[in-house]
Amino acid sequence: MLEDKNQSRTSLEELGEFGLIEHLTKNFSIQHKTTVLGIGDDAAIVDFKEGQTVITTDLLIEGVHFDLSYMPLKHLGYKAVMVNLSDVYAMNAAASQITVSIAVSNRFPVEALEELYEGIHAACKNYKVDLIGGDTTSSNVGLVISITALGEASPETIVKRSGANENDLLVVSGDLGGAYMGLQVLEREKEVFKANPNNQPELEQYSYIVERQLKPEARQDITAILKELNVVPTAMIDISDGLSSEILHLCKASNLGCQLFEDKIPLDPQVINVCEEFNIDSTTIALSGGEDYELLFTIKQEDYPKIKANPSVSVIGHMTHEREGKHLITRADTKIPIIARGWNSLSNGG
Ligand code: ADP
Ligand code: MG
Repeated sequence: MLEDKNQSRTSLEELGEFGLIEHLTKNFSIQHKTTVLGIGDDAAIVDFKEGQTVITTDLLIEGVHFDLSYMPLKHLGYKAVMVNLSDVYAMNAAASQITVSIAVSNRFPVEALEELYEGIHAACKNYKVDLIGGDTTSSNVGLVISITALGEASPETIVKRSGANENDLLVVSGDLGGAYMGLQVLEREKEVFKANPNNQPELEQYSYIVERQLKPEARQDITAILKELNVVPTAMIDISDGLSSEILHLCKASNLGCQLFEDKIPLDPQVINVCEEFNIDSTTIALSGGEDYELLFTIKQEDYPKIKANPSVSVIGHMTHEREGKHLITRADTKIPIIARGWNSLSNGG
């Protein structure tokens, strides 16, 4: 329904590999001193001089991680960058460079890749990261995108999954479940459209959650807010698979248990409404729905006064001794074990 709004179609062969790379990357500028050499040589050069460098990479495959029938290429480019920057911010690091590698089949015209790179460009601009290289090759299945992100961090403030301590508070940014419910709405509209192509999708009342799915924003602002408040999290992870699986990762890496309070899980009113419409439990969606790209972190109890008035974060529980297990305390005050049920599990191909 959103596919192929381009009228003109320039075939990839017309430009050739080098012409294509040059064409797609000509509008990107270098913004960081740490980027010594960008695109155009056999390798890029970065010089971080001091501190440590974080590196993270993600691979996105058409049909497994995205569906081009409702994901415009521009959004896909933007989101592919966000997925990586989110991992950098989850280390409490500052993202500075990315490389982008793509494999494309010749069913994509140059104009389609232009759109993809428009989204990548917007992400680089909004988040101040330099595109410093990549690779371009052909694919006979679908579109494949792999992005690698680099970031700077000082060893004193870098945050791993493993640093949480007993009694630390468990905190999450933003609200949860929106991206998953946005996907449900898009999937439903796709079916409606298949049945009757004259039906235009009605997405207005779902704008927030559809945007959460199609145009997620990595929480660069949270790392900045924490720095301003002088709070260094003890452990941190980004929420790509759903709250429950990320909490379990933190617990495992830190050798701890936890208590998570159902009534503290932040939900947008639109998520609550759409869950009712789809007859799904909103807590289940927050726990298991993926792709929210919020940050989950732990802080020392003594840091609570510094964050308690901040509307961007919510305290949702605390860490316990490992032997106490990992539990959700429900609204009815019952205690149920947290299990990993990320929607993006291997059974789903993710
Ligand atoms: P090589 O043959 O050494 O792999 P390439 O011809 O693949 O070099 O790439 C030439 C330059 O263009 C390199 O700087 C590379 O990092 C960059 N590049 C290649 N593909 C992409 C892409 N899809 N996006 C951004 N930069 C790219
Ligand atoms: Mg190459």
